[in-house]
Formats: sequence, C-alpha cells, structure tokens
Amino acid sequence: MDTQQKIQTLREELRQHNYNYYVLDKPEIDDFTFDQKLKELQALEQAHPEYFDANSPSLRVGGQITKNFNTVKHETRMYSLDNSYSLEDLEDWEKRIKKMVDGEVEYVCELKYDGASISLTYEKGELIRAVTRGDGVQGDDVTNNIKTIRTVPLKLKGDFPEKFDIRGEIVLPLAGFAAMNAERVEAGEEPYSNPRNTASGSLKLQDSAEVAKRPLECLLYSIVGENLNIKSQFESLEKARSWGFKVPEVAKLTASTDETFKFLDYWDVHRHELPYETDGVVIKVNNFQQQEELGFTAKAPRWAMAYKFKTEQAETVLEKITYQVGRTGAITPVANLNAVQLAGTIVKRASLHNADQIEKLDIREGDTVYVEKGGEIIPKIVGVDFEKRSSDSTPTQYITSCPECDTTLVRQPGEAQHYCPNASGCPPQIIGRIQHYISRKALDIEGLGGETVALLVNNGLIKNYADLYDLRKEDILPLDRMAEKSAVNLVKGVESSKNIPFERVLFGLGIRFVGETVARKLAKQFKSIEVLAQATFDELIAVDEIGERIAQSVVEFFASEENKVLIDKLKNHGIQLELDAAVLENQTEKLKGSIFVISGVFTQVSRTELKKMIEDNGGKASGSISSKTNYLVAGENMGPSKREKAEKLNVPIITESEFLAMI
Ligand code: ZN
Repeated sequence: MDTQQKIQTLREELRQHNYNYYVLDKPEIDDFTFDQKLKELQALEQAHPEYFDANSPSLRVGGQITKNFNTVKHETRMYSLDNSYSLEDLEDWEKRIKKMVDGEVEYVCELKYDGASISLTYEKGELIRAVTRGDGVQGDDVTNNIKTIRTVPLKLKGDFPEKFDIRGEIVLPLAGFAAMNAERVEAGEEPYSNPRNTASGSLKLQDSAEVAKRPLECLLYSIVGENLNIKSQFESLEKARSWGFKVPEVAKLTASTDETFKFLDYWDVHRHELPYETDGVVIKVNNFQQQEELGFTAKAPRWAMAYKFKTEQAETVLEKITYQVGRTGAITPVANLNAVQLAGTIVKRASLHNADQIEKLDIREGDTVYVEKGGEIIPKIVGVDFEKRSSDSTPTQYITSCPECDTTLVRQPGEAQHYCPNASGCPPQIIGRIQHYISRKALDIEGLGGETVALLVNNGLIKNYADLYDLRKEDILPLDRMAEKSAVNLVKGVESSKNIPFERVLFGLGIRFVGETVARKLAKQFKSIEVLAQATFDELIAVDEIGERIAQSVVEFFASEENKVLIDKLKNHGIQLELDAAVLENQTEKLKGSIFVISGVFTQVSRTELKKMIEDNGGKASGSISSKTNYLVAGENMGPSKREKAEKLNVPIITESEFLAMI
C-alpha cells in the first residue's frame, strides 16, 4: 500500500470508529488503539503535506486559531419558532392549520434541546461551513471550532444530496458540564453558570484546541436545500441519521393533538432522565408539501410550534443573605430560604453568584423570590415578586469587608467576584488551602480529613500546609476525638506525602488558576520550583496552553514573601520540589530536531520504550519515512519496502544498539 492509500485507509477507519463511539455510542476499539491510529495518521500527514485534507479526522484535536469570526449570510433564513405555553394554544394552532391545508395532517414531535443553534453546510458529502444562528439572516463562521466536535461528521456516508444545509443545536451534556465545573472550582475559578451559555460561548473561542477539550455534542433536526428528494420531516430525520449525523431518537409521529399531548406529558416528567437539558417540544407538520402550503409569517414558519415545558419554579421567602469565603478568597453570596419543595427536593439555599446578579434582580432580604433548578446542582433565584415586597424594604448593600476576617474586599476590573485579599490571615482561606493541599489529587495525605484540618487550625496547631510537617503525636492527642491510633496515622500520612512527585505538590500549593493539568505542564517545562519561581511573565506565556491569566497568577504567587518562606519550609522538610532525578536523568536534548522512524522487532527494549527514549531526549518518533526523516531504527524483520524507501531517500539506517549508543 502506498502512503496516500495508507492515509486514506486510516482516515476512513478513524471516521468509522469516531462515528461508532460518539454517534452510536458503541465503540468497537479501545481508546488506546484509537490514539495509536490517530498518531500514525498525524505522523503521516505531517510527513506528507501534499495529501492535506481539510476534513481529516486528525483535525478533530483542533489547533486552528480564529481571530475574527467572519459574518456569513444564511442561504436559507434560520427562523425562530412561535411559542405556545398551554394545550389550548396548541389546539388553536391545529385549527388554523386544518383551515389552510387539505387532507389529513400528521405531526412530528421532537424534543427541544437547550443549546446554541448552528447551520452546517455540506457539499459533495463534505462539511464546508458551520455558521451560528446569529440574527437568523446572518451568523458567524465558526467552522474551525465546529470541526472539533466529534458528533459533527466531516464526511458523510450513504446516499446524500449534492448540497444542503442541516440545522441543529450544539449542546453540552449535563455530565460533561458538571465535570468542567468541578475542574474549574478545583483550580479556584468561578464555575460556569449553565450548559447553554457555556456551549454558545465555546463556539466563539479563538483557539479550536480549547473547543476540542470541551465535551460538546451536535444534535441535528432539520435539513434545508434544493432537490433533496425528501417528502417529510420524519423521513428527513431518518435520512440524516443514515448519513452519519447524530439525530435524537426521541421523535414521534402523531396523527392527532391527543397523541401529541401524550408525548408532551410523558417528556415533561421524563426529560430529567436525559443527558441534556431540554426546555420543551417542537411540533412540526410532517408533510413537506403541506409545510410549503402553510408557509411563513414574518418571523416564523406556520407549520411548526414550540411548546415550552413549565420550568420547575417555587416561590418562597428569602430570609437572609450570607457570604461564603472560598480557599482563594472568592466571596459567594448565598440566599438562605424558607424551606420549599422544588423538583422533588427540599430547597433551603440558593446561589446568588455575585454582587452584579443581586443588583440586577434587585434581590433583598425579606423578599418573596422565585427559585428554579437548572443544570446546576444549587438552585438559583430568577426573580422577585415585587408586589409582595414590604414598604420598608431597602436595597441590599453588598458587604465591603470579609465576613470572616473583616479585611476590606477587593474586586479586580473585569471580574464579577469580590475577593478577600487577606490570604494568610483569613480562616476559611487558611483552612481551605490546607484542605486542598492534602486532597487526593494533590499530596493525598491519608489519615487527615477536612474537618481535622479545621480542628488543627482552630486550635492554633497549624497556620499553613508547611506546618503539617512539624506536627507531633503529642501535639495532636489532646484534641477532641483524637485517639492514639488516629494521631499516629496522621503523622504517618504527613510523612509519606514527602514521596509525592513535584507536579502534584505544585498543584497542591493552590496557586490560583493552576489546576492539575496546568501544574503538570509547568512542572515538565520548568522542572523545579526554583526555576519556576524565577520565570518571568513572558517565559510563562511562551509555554503551550499557559495563558496570561495563569502566568500573572504564578508570578504573583512567587513574588509574595510569605509564599517564599512557605516554600523554603517545604524544601527543608524534604518535599519534592523538582522533577524526580531518575526522570530528569533520562531526559536530554541530545536528539533535538531529529526525526526517527522505528520499524521491526527489537530485542533490548520494547518499541514503546524506544519511542519514549526518543521523545525523552528531545527527538520525534514518526510513523513513516520521508525526506525529513533523520534515522530509521531498524529491528529484526523490518519490512523490505521501508528499507527500500530509506535507501532511496538516503535516510541512514541504524540498529537498536547504535541508537542506544546515541543517547
Ligand atoms: Zn477574609
């Protein structure tokens, strides 16, 4: 097989596996094998830019930067839908339809997913453009970002029309949204407020690699175009599915309003079991001929109607606004409510997000408020019943000093949150930082829990995480509920945290915006805390995926005298503050700039080890030989074609031993 064929085959295979995994949810190979194939394809494509394909599955990982999103006019306008809020509204709509068209009318009921609308254009089976809804007439070209969404097919299969647009919704599944938020909270960032806004915000990110990391999905529901040879909405859904699109299975053909009502009732209850947020149902006249007869009003098609589910809302009294201080000093206002039943749970508290939110909704203590449960775990207040407000009510004065330590709060320009700047003296920040330090993903100190940390701090035994290493059994024993065994375990757990590798210690330090992944990146790049502490803002942002905000935060952290003292103490206690010498020893720049191809069977080290050695020493392992290849490392039973190609291109062929000698 020649290179071009090999590339084609890999692309086909990856496309199919991608489809099995993301659209059908039935993977046939494991992630590792998939990654191997993807890497092989990437290497081949890199070596052979002449076979570039804008729709190659390798581009799913993103990396294209869009500085400005071009405005593009939709070939067919993206209408919004008329809304109905009651069954009577729907009955009226049906009556209007019956007057305008002859014969029986069938309807298709589909769930309405809460996301960002998108229009995808395909020509000859290839995705050529993706445009946001915008104002319905024109939107933004977000093709680079959309290509990273695995459920969007880049190439179609089956019997598709020459050219068409397909419309749908980019959604963020609830589980993925929760995971993204957990990561943000862990890095000391404010969580996203809801899946829909996060999904639509994702489409406008400049770096498509960032979009690729988000678990977005694309659910399609409508095809538009000329000469499509499709007769009904239901048929179009089935067709789209057969071409490789992810089309929700929940779509029902109904012959009467009664049947439609049954669908609405069913999903009003069961929608909470779905992996996505839905806010209603869309009912469409099924027959395209009838749709055409019905036509459009100035704003919306006459043949479709959205039915909004009633949001689960409760009314209750806001008794008091309190303020919580997080480990990074961020202040979160909390509404303490008169307990009320909402979506099957009893709600006593709701998040108020920040000062702007309180001001915008004019929320005050004593108000009767409306509470809703969205994609978030904590319910939120969506409005105030102003008629029930007492005449002596006064606007909420947001606190100006920390409720825990009385320090004057600060608010950075452009940030929604207020902060308590007293990092070293504010109890919840002190406790929160130590709790973060001992957490499983950081120093993983066994025998020490969050409550014990609070107990130790409140009894004056520790003031920061470095103090943990001075704790002796005798100090702890006098504490409440502290048995001999627990005390021994605690000291033991603290001691063994000295074996935790540098990148996890770095994460544990609790530098704002430095989550697990960023910590790993920084550790790998700077190798020791000393070098990292000296790094300038410019050196930091030069590192892949380190943005200005992170860089600024790192610089500030190491500029603080207190943190310097803290790190010195950790160093004296023997905490790992540099990458393991064994790891470092094996990492050099000896092979920098060299591209290797490995082929055959090896006797002294495995293929994987060989590859790792190349990378650890600054070289690159590629899958195929090209004029850019510097060495072919030949094992036993190497294929004759590789040897031939290497000889033809004058690529030196070296043995395993010769390679090992190089490093
Ligand atoms: Zn404070």
